[in-house]
Amino acid sequence: MKKTPFVTKEQIENIVKEFPTPFHLYDEKGLREKAQAVRDAFAWNPGYKEYFAVKACPNPFILKLFNEYGIGCDCASSAELILSDACGITGDEIMFSSNDTPAEEFVLADKLGATINLDDFTHIQFLEDTIGHIPEKISCRFNPGGIYEVSNGIMDNPQDAKYGFTKDQLFEGMQILRDKGAKVFGIHSFLVSNTVTNDYYPTLARTLFELVVELKEKTGIEISFINLSGGVGIDYKPEQQANDIKIIGEGVHKVYDEILVPAGLGNVKIFTEMGRFMTGPHDLLITKAIHEKHIYKEYIGVDACAVDLMRPAIYGSYHHITVLGKEDAPCTETYDVTGSLCENCDKFAVDRKLPKIEMGDYLAIHDVGAHGYSMGYNYNGKLKHAELLLKEDGSVQMIRRGETIADYFKTFDCFPIFDKLNVK
Ligand SMILES: *Cc1c(COP(=O)(O)O)cnc(C)c1O
Repeated sequence: MKKTPFVTKEQIENIVKEFPTPFHLYDEKGLREKAQAVRDAFAWNPGYKEYFAVKACPNPFILKLFNEYGIGCDCASSAELILSDACGITGDEIMFSSNDTPAEEFVLADKLGATINLDDFTHIQFLEDTIGHIPEKISCRFNPGGIYEVSNGIMDNPQDAKYGFTKDQLFEGMQILRDKGAKVFGIHSFLVSNTVTNDYYPTLARTLFELVVELKEKTGIEISFINLSGGVGIDYKPEQQANDIKIIGEGVHKVYDEILVPAGLGNVKIFTEMGRFMTGPHDLLITKAIHEKHIYKEYIGVDACAVDLMRPAIYGSYHHITVLGKEDAPCTETYDVTGSLCENCDKFAVDRKLPKIEMGDYLAIHDVGAHGYSMGYNYNGKLKHAELLLKEDGSVQMIRRGETIADYFKTFDCFPIFDKLNVK
C-alpha cells in the first residue's frame, strides 16, 4: 500500500515557524483510533488489558492518552516505573516485565503494587530475599526453546533468547510460588518480534493455552491471566500488508473457545504488552535537506541524524521516506539520505529511489513512533530533538522539549570544570 504521511507540506511550513526541524511529530488522531481498535478487538474477553510497552515511547502525554482507553503500562526499569506512577498509572495498571532485574527495581515495583512478571526460576528466591515475601499475584515468563514458527516463514529462535523459564522450571516454579503464598497466577511469553501477520497472537495463544491446561492437570494450579506480550508488527515497507487487530483478536478468541473454555478455564484474562503496534505508525521524523553531495554516490544530508532514530543504523531497518510536496512526483533519483554523525551507518536510507530533492525540502521519515525517539543516544554530542503532538484540531503541542547543551553537560556539574563549560 502507498504510504502517505498524516501531514502536508503546508502544515509543516506552518509548524516550523514555531518549532524548527528536526522533530518527531505524533498524530493524536491515529493514536486514539489505535487505542480504540485494540480495545474493541479484545472486548470479547472481559478481563482484557493492554499494558503499553513504555520503552517503545516513554512520553507521559502519550501514556496518559492511552490510559483514557484503559491501557496500562508495561515497565522494565525504575525510570519507566516512576514515569508510569507519575502519570497516575500505578498499582494493578503496571506490569513489570523485566529481566536481569536489579534488586532495587523489584523493591520499587512491589512498592507501587505492580504485577511482577518473573523472568527466571532463580528470581523466585531473589525476589523473596529482596522484598521479604512473595506477592499474592505473580507471573512467570515462558521460553519454549527451539525454533518458533508462526506462518509463511515468520519465525524466531527462542532457543537463543535470554528470556524466560523452561517448561520444567515453569511447572516447578509455579508450585514453589503457590507454596510460598501466591494465589493469582499469570504466564507471559514473547517469542517473535515485529510479526507482520495476523497469525502470531493466535499461534502463541495456542501454545500458551495448551500449556496452562497441562499445568492445571498436572499441578492443580489455575492460571488467571495470560500475557501475550508484544511482537505485533507494523508494515514498515509499502509492499507489506498491515496487521488487522480485529482479525488478530478474533483469532485469539477462537483458540480460547477451543482450548480454554472446555478445560474449565473460561475466566482467564488476556493481557497484551504491545509497543510497536500502538505507536509505531503514528509518528513521523520531520527533517530538512541541508546538503547534497555528488561523489561515488548521490547523498542528501538532512538536519536529523541517528540520534533521532537509531533503527536504520543498528539494524539496517527500512523506514519509508516521503518528500513533502512531492508525494506524487516520479522517483527518478537514487539517494543515500544521511545524518551528520561521524559513522558511515548514519543513513536513514541507502540507494533509495526518491523524487529529485532540493535543498530546503522537508522529508517525512515514517513509522518512527516506537523504539524511535526512545532508542536515541547522544553520540558525537548530538542532542535529541523535540517531540511534538499534532492534535485532532490541527494545532501542535510540544510534548517534550529538545535537549540543550546544558542537558548534555549535566553529568559534569559536580566538577569544577563545569563553570568553564559556560552552559548556564
Ligand atoms: C519490548 C517489549 C515489549 C513490546 O514489544 P513490541 O515489539 O514493541 O510490541 C513487550 N513486552 C516486553 C517484555 C518487551 O521487552
